[in-house]
Amino acid sequence: MAVERTLSILKPDATERNLTGQINARFEAAGLRIVAQKRLQLTDAQAGLFYQEHSARPFYKDLCGFMSSGPIVAQVLEGENAILANRDIMGATNPANAAAGTIRKDFAVSIDANSVHGSDSPAAAAREISFFFSTLELVG
Ligand code: ADP
Ligand code: MG
Repeated sequence: MAVERTLSILKPDATERNLTGQINARFEAAGLRIVAQKRLQLTDAQAGLFYQEHSARPFYKDLCGFMSSGPIVAQVLEGENAILANRDIMGATNPANAAAGTIRKDFAVSIDANSVHGSDSPAAAAREISFFFSTLELVG
């Protein structure tokens, strides 16, 4: 195992319900450190760029609409094996399938309003971190 960084997003359904602190506490309790964080609202086009890997999927248009519908919190989480560790803390994409104690099981509203995003590979983490954060915003 190695110390990694991963890109996390608290989605509009989470900020709307004022869950930033409760979700962040899950990351910290699991040993992940929030090393960068900002609250912003994406345009539909920016959401489309972020999720371009899904551009051919039937849910893409709704996904971009949802992700640009309100403020999000973009953050970089750091820790041992952070990419997979965060995916475990998040739970399955569909909250109906998410394990007990995961963020999506406890907070998600639906498969689209599922509260959090997390990078799924080292290559995705590198691309997604640089999408939101400049080198000046990333303290070593
Ligand atoms: P994850 O966020 O778990 O990595 P994906 O990368 O497969 O999941 O999908 C990106 C996001 O698109 C999901 O978090 C979810 O909000 C949305 N999504 C995925 N599959 C569906 C679906 N079948 N119907 C509606 N929205 C979906
Ligand atoms: Mg994904």
